[in-house]
Amino acid sequence: MPKQVNWLEQMQAVVGPKGFTISGDDMAPWLTDWRGRYTGAAAAMVSPGTTQETSEILKIANDNGVAIVPQGGNSGMVGGATPDSSGHSVLLSLRRMNRIRAIQADDQLVVCDAGVILQNLHEALASHGQRFPLTLGGKGSATVGGLVSTNAGGTQVLRHGTMRSLVAGIEAVLPDGSILDGLSALKKDNRGYDLKQLFVGGEGTLGIVTGATLKTVPALVDRCVAWAAVDSTDAAYQLFRFLNSRTPHALEGFEIIPATCLNSVLRHIPGTRQPLEGTYPWHVLIEIIRDQPDSEDPRMVAENLLAKAIERNLIENATLAANEQQAEDFWKIRDSIAEAERASGPALQHDISVPVPGMARFINEASPVIEARFPGTKVAAFGHMGDGNVHFHVKAPEGITAQEWMEDLGKQITPLVHDLVIAAGGSISAEHGIGQNKRTELERISSDARLSMLRAIKMAIDPNNIMNPGKLVPLASSHSGS
Ligand SMILES: Cc1cc2nc3c(=O)[nH]c(=O)nc-3n(C[C@H](O)[C@H](O)[C@H](O)COP(=O)(O)OP(=O)(O)OC[C@H]3O[C@@H](n4cnc5c(N)ncnc54)[C@H](O)[C@@H]3O)c2cc1C
Repeated sequence: MPKQVNWLEQMQAVVGPKGFTISGDDMAPWLTDWRGRYTGAAAAMVSPGTTQETSEILKIANDNGVAIVPQGGNSGMVGGATPDSSGHSVLLSLRRMNRIRAIQADDQLVVCDAGVILQNLHEALASHGQRFPLTLGGKGSATVGGLVSTNAGGTQVLRHGTMRSLVAGIEAVLPDGSILDGLSALKKDNRGYDLKQLFVGGEGTLGIVTGATLKTVPALVDRCVAWAAVDSTDAAYQLFRFLNSRTPHALEGFEIIPATCLNSVLRHIPGTRQPLEGTYPWHVLIEIIRDQPDSEDPRMVAENLLAKAIERNLIENATLAANEQQAEDFWKIRDSIAEAERASGPALQHDISVPVPGMARFINEASPVIEARFPGTKVAAFGHMGDGNVHFHVKAPEGITAQEWMEDLGKQITPLVHDLVIAAGGSISAEHGIGQNKRTELERISSDARLSMLRAIKMAIDPNNIMNPGKLVPLASSHSGS
């Protein structure tokens, strides 16, 4: 056990009563992950209000060997923000650090605290004629620090890239309490390694991100959102190529949705309606945008291209959102899939990527392999087809107990899915990260070179292993919290 009395009191003195609790009731909502798969325990939840306070907390933790679990909105998908069950760690919440420090619209930059919620950032930028071109279903909870730390993706990666390409600067507190001030947005900076990028996708294992300078783009002038039905994943990919090659700067979203996911949303999410009459095996959500007043009208572009796609037999049926409300309704269907799938019963979620041209084939070949090997299971693959990234969910057979599913079948299915992904030249984590959920699998499938670099970086920056132990990096011996 760490020497509790002193360090807890010291931490409380740093953040004051507003930023400190040891109450089980206060902490309970933050000790289980969004998917409800992991529940941990913590000695305290500490919520610093400033970078300086964060620095003092980390110094106390480092001096006393106390494990720190950083947390933003707790919307992560891999248990990265959930402590272990020892009750020895401190949950460090960034939610009080929620100030947008500066919007520099002319330079297309925004500087903000790590605890700013994505949706609030979107709203603040809109009033300055700017937007942050990253969005995802968890935008009402996900924070800038969490998005940075998971290198989040979402539905606009096609045009703007993942968080990695949207971060211009980082302010971070290292495990010993020192502050790395890298907020300055330099176009050119050749002082060796790009240190800020270590924190992008670092999952809180190297330090705490306290602030970030993010790139923004002009607010949309207009957009056209379309819903199309296709008869196969191949047709969806051909449609993607067709649209992408003709709208190089305007295709911003291309999401594939199987009929099973659409039906599950219609069943579980109030206020959703079927976008197209008829029954089709696959659906595609398309967004074409205009962000310069003199560019082509996106509605005309979409009408024209979709008509041609129908002539080429790429599409079975399609409709354009008649207005902004309908556009939002179409996106609500897409953004609610994770929630609807969670409500529709146990499933194993695999956030995987393969090279973009190989995704249709991967879905076609991997799904029957899994369903044949594990009778009664059903695959539902949906998501960011234009990025070569789908969420490959395997649903449990009817009547199986949660224990049999997770402990027995689940342990056989996930490695098989991952082996198929690796054979297709892909990655077992496209955008959700590794957390505690995929750490063993990362170790199993990674080369010695990858593992030794991951371990060397971790141990160089956090030699006492206080930062989010048990997450991401498969160390030879994990921190025990004592
Ligand atoms: C409905 C829904 C849809 C989603 N869709 C997508 C999607 O399309 N694409 C996608 O990429 N993700 C998606 N997500 C997952 C999630 O929103 C992202 O992973 C997001 O980046 C997590 O942000 P958060 O603030 O909630 O982080 P948390 O869940 O609190 O933490 C995530 C990880 O980051 C670490 N961390 C958090 N804040 C900091 C910090 N300041 N410094 C250091 N480490 C920190 C934590 O320790 C943890 O390891 C979705 C989630 C939901 C609920």
